[in-house]
Amino acid sequence: MRLYFVIPESYLLRALTVSGLLLLLAGCDTDLKTSHEPMHSIYNSVTLKASATGVIDRIELRMKRFVIDPVDGSETEESPLFLVQICDPVFPASNLKCTYEAPWSGHGKMVEFEGRAILWNGTTRTETYRFATGRYPIAGSPIPIRMNLNPLEAIDVVIVPDPDLMNDIYPYPWSSFRLILDDLVDGIFFDYAAIREWRGLYNFYYSPETGEFDEFNCDFTYGDDVDDIDGIQVVADTMVYAHSREMWDCTNGTQFSTEIWYDKSAVHELGHAVIGLRDEYNVAYVGIYGPQATMGNTFQGKAACVAEAPDIGLPASYCVIATPAYDIWRIDPTGPAGCIMGPSQHNEWSDFGPACNRRIFWRYGKCLDGDCMSLVALEAL
Ligand SMILES: [Zn+2]
Repeated sequence: MRLYFVIPESYLLRALTVSGLLLLLAGCDTDLKTSHEPMHSIYNSVTLKASATGVIDRIELRMKRFVIDPVDGSETEESPLFLVQICDPVFPASNLKCTYEAPWSGHGKMVEFEGRAILWNGTTRTETYRFATGRYPIAGSPIPIRMNLNPLEAIDVVIVPDPDLMNDIYPYPWSSFRLILDDLVDGIFFDYAAIREWRGLYNFYYSPETGEFDEFNCDFTYGDDVDDIDGIQVVADTMVYAHSREMWDCTNGTQFSTEIWYDKSAVHELGHAVIGLRDEYNVAYVGIYGPQATMGNTFQGKAACVAEAPDIGLPASYCVIATPAYDIWRIDPTGPAGCIMGPSQHNEWSDFGPACNRRIFWRYGKCLDGDCMSLVALEAL
């Protein structure tokens, strides 16, 4: 892997242990979220946004700019971190939003955006990430739209537009596509706590070329040339082929497809590709996708399910058969808010169930230990 981006060592997530992160997840009474729109602007201003809940005294927004070297991808600081906005109401607010319209930064730049919420008691919450602005100078590489970590330490998600989506947003497909990237990242992936609360482990990018998805063979083709994918795979841990018409979505290795507008497909397939989760519904064909040997969300036989129930935190009586033909069992509940990997996938409130979450947190722990994706790729074989 070539290293394109050098990220300061002080990033919050690097220093935290898994248990620290779990505590953060469980005991968070103050929430700070930052975002920007559009996620990649070639010529125009970018709106920086932060919102915080809790007892918030004020929010401060800062930015810093870097010039990207078109040859080796290294970055040189162009301007230091500077304060661009303070949102400071007369009385502390329980829900405070703050925005700033940052003028266009020029071609070939990276912007570091820091949102900081200062609580009534003086403590602070900070979130920082980077994104590219202007024309991206490294040909064939994925364009960073929300980077938290060095790619070697992150789950690198590259969004690839399918030609049918590009046809739908004709006559300006790429500029229109850039305007809807945040629908998928902020609107869909961050709508699910298991991704949102751990967003610091993810980097998001989009590809400079389209890629085609063949739904009947679950086959993915990227770019015009077989070599095109090389520049993407240097960085990508997973590639999301985003299309607009309704299709039979699937995951093949670490590549997956989804309607760009449908959270239930996007989050389900990300569960396969990034976490290595298995389907919890009755599958006609299991093949190589039987239960995982470690931290699985499905089980080979009832006894295996019953044995793991205490670790998952559910009563053994929740064990039910998922795929009778192969004696595969599941434990995650179904229903309106049932597990998104199973029969409840398309229900309005479906989300990852406890067995899925156990594997998700285990996966994130591996990532913090320096193995972000190789294990998933191996297990998917
Ligand atoms: Zn599935």
